[in-house]
Amino acid sequence: MNGYAGKILRIDLASGDFSTEPLPPELIRDYLGGRGFAARILYDEIPTGADPLGPDNRIVIAAGPLSGLFVPAAGKTTFAARSPATGGWGDSNIGGHLASEMKYAGYDAIILQGIAPRPSYVYIKNDRVEIRDAAFLLGKGAIETERALKDVLGDEFQIATIGPAGENRVVFACVSHDFGRQAGRTGVGAVMGSKNIKAIAIRGTKAIEVADLDKMIAIGKDMFKASFAAPNIREWQRYGTSQVVPWANSIGAFPTRNFKSGYLEGNEGLSHELMRREIVVNDKACFSCPMACGKYSHTTAKGYDAYVEGPEYETSALIGGNCAITDIKDVAYANYVCDELGLDTISAGAVIGFAMECYEKGIISAKDTGGIEARFGDVDAFVKLAHKIALREGIGDLLAGGVRRAARHLGRGSDEFAIEVKGLEWSGYESRSAPANMLAYMTADVGSHHNRAWAITYDIALGRDVLEGKARKVIELQHIRPLFDVLGACRLLWVEIDFDLDWYPKVLEPITGVKYTMDDLNRISERVWNLTRLFWIKHVPGFGRKDDWPPSRFYRRPMPDGPTAGRMINRKQLEKLLDDYYALRGWDSKGHPTPEKLAELGLP
Ligand code: SF4
Repeated sequence: MNGYAGKILRIDLASGDFSTEPLPPELIRDYLGGRGFAARILYDEIPTGADPLGPDNRIVIAAGPLSGLFVPAAGKTTFAARSPATGGWGDSNIGGHLASEMKYAGYDAIILQGIAPRPSYVYIKNDRVEIRDAAFLLGKGAIETERALKDVLGDEFQIATIGPAGENRVVFACVSHDFGRQAGRTGVGAVMGSKNIKAIAIRGTKAIEVADLDKMIAIGKDMFKASFAAPNIREWQRYGTSQVVPWANSIGAFPTRNFKSGYLEGNEGLSHELMRREIVVNDKACFSCPMACGKYSHTTAKGYDAYVEGPEYETSALIGGNCAITDIKDVAYANYVCDELGLDTISAGAVIGFAMECYEKGIISAKDTGGIEARFGDVDAFVKLAHKIALREGIGDLLAGGVRRAARHLGRGSDEFAIEVKGLEWSGYESRSAPANMLAYMTADVGSHHNRAWAITYDIALGRDVLEGKARKVIELQHIRPLFDVLGACRLLWVEIDFDLDWYPKVLEPITGVKYTMDDLNRISERVWNLTRLFWIKHVPGFGRKDDWPPSRFYRRPMPDGPTAGRMINRKQLEKLLDDYYALRGWDSKGHPTPEKLAELGLP
């Protein structure tokens, strides 16, 4: 099976039994890999309405056809499950070296089902699979756990872990790997915790067969040359995503004080140049990546002493801007704390920003927070709240359910500034004056998140007030960006250094022996998109148009300041965006795929 390991590993955590299944050829044909495999398997296998934190939920860890091969940035792994944050489709991808190791061990996907009777970790060395005792790891930080397991097993093992937040089923707990990479979103770490799995350690020494090795190497070399020749790759190697921080502020899109604004006074304290100068100690890359966008930092501010991979853009946006913490050293420290606790920094920044606004408005007080004065700009308050959330102590137990649940509990108008869609906290772009980006986050199939489509540059290019053409652009992006999660590659080369998309069908041919066009790949991605929509409809009663609706702050309150002051998208415009979007997708006005669309995509 060229390009694939050819097997799925299924582990029943309750009994400790495992089995392997041949990778079905029709799964490859229709879904190709990664997120596509996960969508098909989980749609079929999770019973309707299964508790996301119960025994019937499953985790799929999946590699793509490019994973582990001589292709730039082929280092992305998908973690997927029914999300405890949203109740709907949940997946998140992680950089590093896990997918390659998984394929070298002989597996394209791993399915974890049931619940282990005691805290455990999964040990995989080629064909040897064991559920091992993890009592000695309980309570340890996510990165601390990785170090501890490498000390036991050896540095050649690739390891995914959870921190205390995952153990305590915080709905935005992440999975961590490679000392600071995270599958951050949708609470896959909480699902791992609910299964009593603290870590997964993988070592593989097998080969992956490809259809034409010489040709793959020749094309792979050309791909590497093309990426190194990109005019702006040096900037990305030097600064990574942190260079987006001043740009986002300059266009009024930098989340500020719980998305009250898109413009942060003091943003220069988070700048990429300052970060590089003051705290970055090294660059860090995922498997086979020429860009090395990971920045490894050391912060000793205010007596802290912490090493952390980051802060990358989203972390600076949500911990920095959204909580008004304007010193990069403080943000790096808070980033480190979240990483060890195993909290997604996007949702953690959104949830704590929400709590800070509640505190500012008197909806909660120091009595509720256990004495913490939860003021914007206070990194110590941030860190204390993060600990409370991860350990579910006091108010942390409420916040551990995410902003939607917290607003429902607190009431008093707090739902207006609970910044989420489908229950997932909005990632790092304020979009009140960016209709395409707004629509992209409203309709993203995991809840409001940039990974599926990031369209703000098109809003600027096509006109911020323009609605025409925006839905079409969003759909185009929603097929291309998630396609990288299907392939098992990183999208940043295409997004940031204009890497030509045509490389991907070109290199797939010598790998798989199958000729693909970009249209074929887009069709697969569209099939996956519709299947994840069906997943929502299957599991969330009454799911539809209302679930694609943004938080009311975005259409009730014009931007108060900054370069987009006074701007807003109104209700009527939002309805039009959704109408256009559904019509172009072949969905009805409720946002459900029509039978004709499903038949066209070969979906039941
Ligand atoms: Fe990893 Fe960054 Fe390279 Fe993507 S660009 S593979 S995230 S190092």
